[in-house]
Amino acid sequence: MKQLTPDDIRESFVNASKGEAGRVPMPGLHDVLWEQREYLGWRDQQSPQRGYLVHWVDERPVGLVLRASEFSLRPGIAAMCSWCRITRRSDEISLFSAPRAGQSGRDGNTIGTYVCDDLACSHMIRILPPAHDLLNPEELLATRIEGLVTRVRAFTADVMKTA
Ligand SMILES: [Zn+2]
Repeated sequence: MKQLTPDDIRESFVNASKGEAGRVPMPGLHDVLWEQREYLGWRDQQSPQRGYLVHWVDERPVGLVLRASEFSLRPGIAAMCSWCRITRRSDEISLFSAPRAGQSGRDGNTIGTYVCDDLACSHMIRILPPAHDLLNPEELLATRIEGLVTRVRAFTADVMKTA
């Protein structure tokens, strides 16, 4: 993805008030490998239920404020992230909800999805199985990237839909 500045991030949140957006803790940006990211995601050290995601939609940075459910999936099973579609341990997948944009969100309406608890989908999709006759890792990665971008954008579009 294209690089983001702290100002880009601060201005990007579509489902938070100006005040809330102003209190979002900025992630460390110095060591971000932008070319290996489809979205920038981070958790809030101060309020552990909170998470944030910023990605580019066309030429515009679009950010979402997320909240992780306090309820966990049953331990000891496998679960799949609905964005990167990687299967992980159930305690590594959380139900996140995003307030809808605009009045609907202020009225308490949210959209939920089960995704990587660490918001590290971009990292997960780059862990590739070894190549063999039937599998070309580069093609697999390209497919995964396209899928991740498409699904995160679809989620954001849902959050922003005002009806
Ligand atoms: Zn994921």
